[in-house]
Amino acid sequence: MLNIIVLVKQVPDIEKVRFDMETGRIDRSSAPAEINPFDLNALEAALQIKEKLGGFITALSMGPMQAVNSLRDAMARGADDAILLEDRRFAGADTLATSHTLAAAIRKIGSYDIILCGEKTVDGDTGQVGAEVAELLEIPHIYYVSRIVNVSEKSITVVSETEDASYVLESDFPVLVSVTRDVNKPRLPTLKSKMKAMKSQVKIWHAEDLSGFLEPDKTGYAGSPTSVQKVVVQGEKTRQGRVYRQVEEGLAELIRLFESKGLI
Ligand SMILES: Cc1cc2nc3c(=O)[nH]c(=O)nc-3n(C[C@H](O)[C@H](O)[C@H](O)COP(=O)(O)OP(=O)(O)OC[C@H]3O[C@@H](n4cnc5c(N)ncnc54)[C@H](O)[C@@H]3O)c2cc1C
Repeated sequence: MLNIIVLVKQVPDIEKVRFDMETGRIDRSSAPAEINPFDLNALEAALQIKEKLGGFITALSMGPMQAVNSLRDAMARGADDAILLEDRRFAGADTLATSHTLAAAIRKIGSYDIILCGEKTVDGDTGQVGAEVAELLEIPHIYYVSRIVNVSEKSITVVSETEDASYVLESDFPVLVSVTRDVNKPRLPTLKSKMKAMKSQVKIWHAEDLSGFLEPDKTGYAGSPTSVQKVVVQGEKTRQGRVYRQVEEGLAELIRLFESKGLI
């Protein structure tokens, strides 16, 4: 039986979210929250592996208390256990501090064969956390996985897709695998599984629960060597259009415009 950990981040619905232009921060109250779409593919990959070989799936997230809802969603989709890392000392984390905190929790969980995560998130979008977690745990990682070719009790074979080429890679366990959206089509939770998940308990681990696994100066704002100085939201560019009823009139205007720009 394989022990599988899936990293799940709660993100705002990116179609609806607004930015607070004064603080440069995402106004999370402006949109409903959901599981990062790429993490649904990671969870689906875990479920398919479990269906083939048997296993136990733990969904792990760091975030505010509201992220319990996303973890319940993960349980409704088939995760066996869910852990939320929540503490005000974890707040203000950059990707490195986030990775230290997630890696500490994974060390505490102790036994794992495969860690699955999404290629990136739709809000932070750095694509750094998976690789950082693997480095901190000193295990191999495979990124941009678009296909899982085979999984056995000891190893996994995957296709990793980069801009230049596709690679078939194999790794023994433990390994961290970061998936793209091509890897599968995530299943939807059923009404019955949703009801069951509502009653399931999401474990909450605070900073003191990670003591011995996480150095206090490696998490949250204090453990973040980088900070966001400014966020600029690009304004939408609108096309300028003009309608001419006569072809000659339109052509004359076009020629005048090209001449004024030195194009003809
Ligand atoms: C320089 C910098 C400063 C920042 N400062 C702040 C700040 O002050 N306050 C603040 O709220 N945020 C801050 N952030 C954002 C915060 O660091 C990110 O939300 C977090 O590190 C995850 O990064 P990401 O969203 O780019 O994930 P990615 O690296 O794109 O995610 C890859 C995968 O890792 C997993 N993953 C990522 N994050 C989590 C998580 N939290 N729990 C479980 N799995 C996860 C998911 O599977 C995801 O698909 C900052 C980010 C940067 C780059």
